[in-house]
Amino acid sequence: MRNAAFITAIVVFLGAGLAWIWWPDEPDEERPMGERIVKSDAEWRQVLTDKQFQVTRQAGTERAWTGEYAKCHQDGVYTCVCCGQPLFDSKTKFESGTGWPSFYEPAVDKNVVKKKEGILPWAPTEVLCSRCDAHLGHVFNDAPSQPTGLRYCINSAALKLVERGSETSEKE
Ligand SMILES: [Zn+2]
Repeated sequence: MRNAAFITAIVVFLGAGLAWIWWPDEPDEERPMGERIVKSDAEWRQVLTDKQFQVTRQAGTERAWTGEYAKCHQDGVYTCVCCGQPLFDSKTKFESGTGWPSFYEPAVDKNVVKKKEGILPWAPTEVLCSRCDAHLGHVFNDAPSQPTGLRYCINSAALKLVERGSETSEKE
């Protein structure tokens, strides 16, 4: 009987350990302090369209080639549709053939948070806005022809393109 209790204790211990490792809630990287924007779903719904809300607040994915920036070649900075934080530069946008806007690096590293969806090596890595937690898309390391080898696969619905030079007038 002592053996059974011992085995039970081991199983419980390993189970708790696995659950702790597996729990994907905590982001891999530190987020910048301050300046965080936190709103309720009701508040977000007031400022976002249904599609924008579904993508950014419910981690949805727009259908390929349906987003307004999939084929966009305009010069500017792609900002977060929720909070306006600069996320990607049009200079790093490239044709991936996937149907979603693709970038090889963020405009500012700390503005984009990467979060692995599980611990398995092939688990996808989610990309979020560091200021408001908007779901943006995923990042893959399958772009060997690009300077970083990375492909940030981003939903158009999570982005708002601001023409270069007009960033300041945006705030007025
Ligand atoms: Zn944001």
